Amino acid sequence: MFAIEARKMGYRVHTYSPDSDTPTGQVADVETSASYDDLDRVREFARSVDVVTFEFENVPSETVEAAAEFVDVHPKGEILHTTQNRLREKTFLSANGFPVTPYRHIKSNDDLYRAADALGYPSVLKTAGFGYDGKGQAKIRAHSDLDEAFATMDGRDSILEAFVAFEKEMSVVCARDQAGNFVHYGVIENEHANHILDVSFAPAFVSESVFQEAVEITRSIADAFAYVGTMCVEFFVTTDENVLVNEIAPRPHNSGHLTFGPCVTSQFEQQVRAVCGLPLGSTEFFRPAAMANLLGDVWQKGEPHWSAALSDRRVKLHLYGKAEPKPGRKMGHITASAETALSAASVVRKARQQLIELK
Ligand code: AMP
Repeated sequence: MFAIEARKMGYRVHTYSPDSDTPTGQVADVETSASYDDLDRVREFARSVDVVTFEFENVPSETVEAAAEFVDVHPKGEILHTTQNRLREKTFLSANGFPVTPYRHIKSNDDLYRAADALGYPSVLKTAGFGYDGKGQAKIRAHSDLDEAFATMDGRDSILEAFVAFEKEMSVVCARDQAGNFVHYGVIENEHANHILDVSFAPAFVSESVFQEAVEITRSIADAFAYVGTMCVEFFVTTDENVLVNEIAPRPHNSGHLTFGPCVTSQFEQQVRAVCGLPLGSTEFFRPAAMANLLGDVWQKGEPHWSAALSDRRVKLHLYGKAEPKPGRKMGHITASAETALSAASVVRKARQQLIELK
């Protein structure tokens, strides 16, 4: 989606990833398929472009440093380094006074016993690195779950988080340019299924004070990082309207896919503009909007029924061009705009349901 927006604006795109025929590669001018650890190839790539950005936060920081020897990288490698590890991210957030879920660093089974005593039950054990969409997570319901949960971490550094009985999840997608200007898309409401984002809609149903707090936290995080590009902050809102930061995504985010079409400027175009040194665009929504993710599960009974889903003229389909529709794998999404955010959400839910109904 970044490459589509960049090409629309006349830029040439060169993509680097360990895979071939990737969703970006299918749209880009040039696709390099090489390991992130092959720093010679990374340097060769960096020499061939004017600016580098990334859309995947598990790119090793050495890879970014190697590229940065030759060319500007936005956002900066240090930001990637901080946000790609839950412990470093939480330490950064708490050190800067941002509200987070209570957590403890876990290196041993003893640490876990002590932390579970302190944080109580239920709680969630998460690997510090390389976790997303609920991967590398174990819910702990009682003392008797501790040993098994520790074993699933396979000796990796992890954190224990108190389980938040949240009322809702929401995110703020923002962009910050090279002069420090900040724009945001307001608050997006998110519903997850099996730890994976399922449906997003905007504007979210939150009070004015929750809205302001979420936006101000996002702005302060972007300023603290001297961020350049599109960034997303994911939040929990508790029943007593406490706003807690769950995660920072240093890139365009799945919840912001609903800006691609329903907004004057999509989150991807903002990323292009920010990293290329252009002014940011308007974040205005033409109408309330919603997005439903399409996971590989949708293909379980054969080719989805595309024309049924598209029979509602408000529905827009986006498929990423991934080869194999595995269960749980994000293959694409559906968006729609409508009179209200809730009606947009019901349009995308219904369209997705029609994909799998009998033909
Ligand atoms: P994460 O990868 O940490 O964003 O987790 C994915 C999803 O799991 C979140 O969006 C929540 O729905 C759920 N989750 C993760 N951590 C917690 C927590 N501490 N309390 C409640 N739910 C959580």
